Amino acid sequence: MQIYKVGGAVRDRLLGRPVTDIDWVVVGASAEEMVAKGFRPVGADFPVFLHPKSGEEYALARTERKSGRGYGGFTFHASPEVTLEEDLIRRDLTINAMAEDAQGVLTDPYNGQKDLEDRLLRHVSPAFAEDPLRVLRVARFAARYASLGFSVAPDTLELMRQLSQSGELQALTAERSWKEISRALMEDQPQIFVQVLRDCGALAVLMPEVDALFGVPQPPAHHPEIDTGLHTLSVLQQAALHRQPLNVRWACLLHDLGKGLTPKEEWPRHIGHEYTGMELIKEVNERFKTPRECQELALLVGQYHTHGHKALELKASTLLELLQSFDVFRRPQRFEEFIAACEMDARGRLGLESRPYPQADYLRGAATTARAVAVQPLLEKGFKGPELGEALRLERLRALKAYKEQHAP
Ligand code: ATP
Ligand code: MG
Repeated sequence: MQIYKVGGAVRDRLLGRPVTDIDWVVVGASAEEMVAKGFRPVGADFPVFLHPKSGEEYALARTERKSGRGYGGFTFHASPEVTLEEDLIRRDLTINAMAEDAQGVLTDPYNGQKDLEDRLLRHVSPAFAEDPLRVLRVARFAARYASLGFSVAPDTLELMRQLSQSGELQALTAERSWKEISRALMEDQPQIFVQVLRDCGALAVLMPEVDALFGVPQPPAHHPEIDTGLHTLSVLQQAALHRQPLNVRWACLLHDLGKGLTPKEEWPRHIGHEYTGMELIKEVNERFKTPRECQELALLVGQYHTHGHKALELKASTLLELLQSFDVFRRPQRFEEFIAACEMDARGRLGLESRPYPQADYLRGAATTARAVAVQPLLEKGFKGPELGEALRLERLRALKAYKEQHAP
């Protein structure tokens, strides 16, 4: 049997990028031989094994044939006769379809090296269209390598467009889609991911609510970029520049969905978009079965981001309600993430990227003030049950009034 490094490890070494995980392909071996050598099989019908010591993935060279819709609709054929070239041709991109042996000799039948030099993300063969996940993968690689000058080859974009129109994208499971989306959002240029999906028509299928934001104007005084879709991309870009975690980035992507529902007669104003957007945010969350912390933050940011921007003008009682909505007394971290998302929203505007955002510190101070109100003295005064709750609320309100008096009179 011969063993080769494949995929990302080869690509990233040639690009001079750090290699984190290594995938291997094994040619000329059977599953029985692998097991005899101590490899542990992963999954029942997948010819993939884990190395007994390193735990790295070793896949038997295989060919694939599409036999139905979705990912389940694949027939694999792995046998000692399958060649390296046959295995590589079923891969998504030419830059992912290179292999390297133990001596460092490269096998590159589909000109991946040339495409690396030309900075092109190009599909290996027409079989690309057999797995719709590849649309998301290519958009994710575009986001990752945009700063190196990569773009999607026109023919590949055309295939992605056909795939998006074919109805195949709907066959993707929530789990597979979310895995790609969440990884893409954590790249340095997540806005490129969304842009590429839009360019090939996949965004309209996967997240029509986000797609609908393009072409919707906002008031130029607050939004010099005007277009809500472009604004959303900028907010995402800011979130990446500021190294925000996944839930903040997800909330940034969805925060303005309500603007896509504003009747044209009301443009460029979007009164109440925070509330109209909530149902849409919920639907997108459910569609991809996003993790709880992403769901929660996206909904809260959608509902309250305007409050964040107006923080210094809010009445003490509104400020307290805001803090209560976030359960800031038990979950201070989530409020921090809300503040971060609001700040990214404020910075994701043309020419306003580095303006100050005093609302952030003001909101932080308000949270600290409200949280500092002690329960003990109220207990000592004999308050219990609902009366205790009300007394605590009034104390917090008093503290916030004093805070506002001092910081935003
Ligand atoms: P990353 O750096 O994100 O891990 P990678 O290229 O190593 O990138 P993996 O998901 O680890 O990506 O997959 C390893 C290799 O398997 C890819 O380089 C590609 O050749 C192939 N591959 C993975 N998923 C697909 C797919 N859906 N369709 C075609 N080929 C795929
Ligand atoms: Mg990999």
